[in-house]
Amino acid sequence: MSGPQQPAVARFWTADAGQARCLLCPHECLLDEGQTGLCNVRKVEDGQLRSLVYGHPVGGAVDPIEKKPLFHFRPASATYSYATVGCNLACTFCQNYTLSQVQGSVAQDSYVPAETLVEDAIKAGCRTLAHTYSEPTIFLEYALDVARAGNARGLDSVFVTNGFIGDAAREEVAATISAANIDLKAFSDLTYRTVCRGRLQPVLDSIVSLVAAGVWVEVTTLVVPGLNDSPAELGDIARFLASVSPAIPWHVSRFHPSFHMTDRGVTPAATLAAARTAGAEAGLQFVYIGNLPGANGEDTICPSCQNVVVRRHHFTVVENLLNKGSCHFCGHQLAGVW
Ligand code: SF4
Repeated sequence: MSGPQQPAVARFWTADAGQARCLLCPHECLLDEGQTGLCNVRKVEDGQLRSLVYGHPVGGAVDPIEKKPLFHFRPASATYSYATVGCNLACTFCQNYTLSQVQGSVAQDSYVPAETLVEDAIKAGCRTLAHTYSEPTIFLEYALDVARAGNARGLDSVFVTNGFIGDAAREEVAATISAANIDLKAFSDLTYRTVCRGRLQPVLDSIVSLVAAGVWVEVTTLVVPGLNDSPAELGDIARFLASVSPAIPWHVSRFHPSFHMTDRGVTPAATLAAARTAGAEAGLQFVYIGNLPGANGEDTICPSCQNVVVRRHHFTVVENLLNKGSCHFCGHQLAGVW
């Protein structure tokens, strides 16, 4: 680490009649000198859009890859997780708001080169780098540099993302990372606009395009009582995912009251079970229940012979009966990166 640095000049923006238009995400903020974007971490200084968080990671930790959650990507391996502060969405139910929803100036007291982060990951025995916790889109210049430095040292990268990213940035991500878990928070544009300060279509576009690009994609929906838990909406999500690929693992996760959404309780187990059923009825091969250990919703079941082939308990693989993705019982090859 070294001392404070001048904020790095950002990529993915254009000068627009004396202003800067950021193209990193679909908000496309148009900013005057001194203004900061909605994500609170990109600012115009000296006529240039700058990233206030380039080289300023937080939350470095070694996690099981299952915690991202990624269940079909190098199971039981360790991943080096980090983030920066900031987010381009503002979900009122954010489960990570102390990192994502920073206000005011961003701490600039230390600088960590991409190569240092990669070295830390290798020393910790990790096989992958997880760009996670807040939202990698808003620190994309750093994330791409870390990912490429990792690729050069034999580490894959995974993104845990809200999928709200601009087209050019998404193409570069697709060419650089190996796997992603994308949040699909609702199947309602109104919910995205009023509860998350986003829009639905760009997220759907991200799921379609990253799958088409060959990135291994899993999807998470935090099932929030009274918000996105109707059978109709859960069915819509499941049918959309199945239309992209029936092999996309769908994680339906239990909500806990958080941030500004404290007016309702946790998601009932029965609702999560109903979501799992909706997924199966839509043709999805793998639907997992998250944040509810012991509910029997974390195991992988072979879609061919229906035997349990991977047993998990709270992000830990207890038993793995796959041989490079092939079912121990019937030989069926399960989708994933094994
Ligand atoms: S990344 Fe930030 S500054 Fe850029 S368009 Fe999105 S919210 Fe605005």
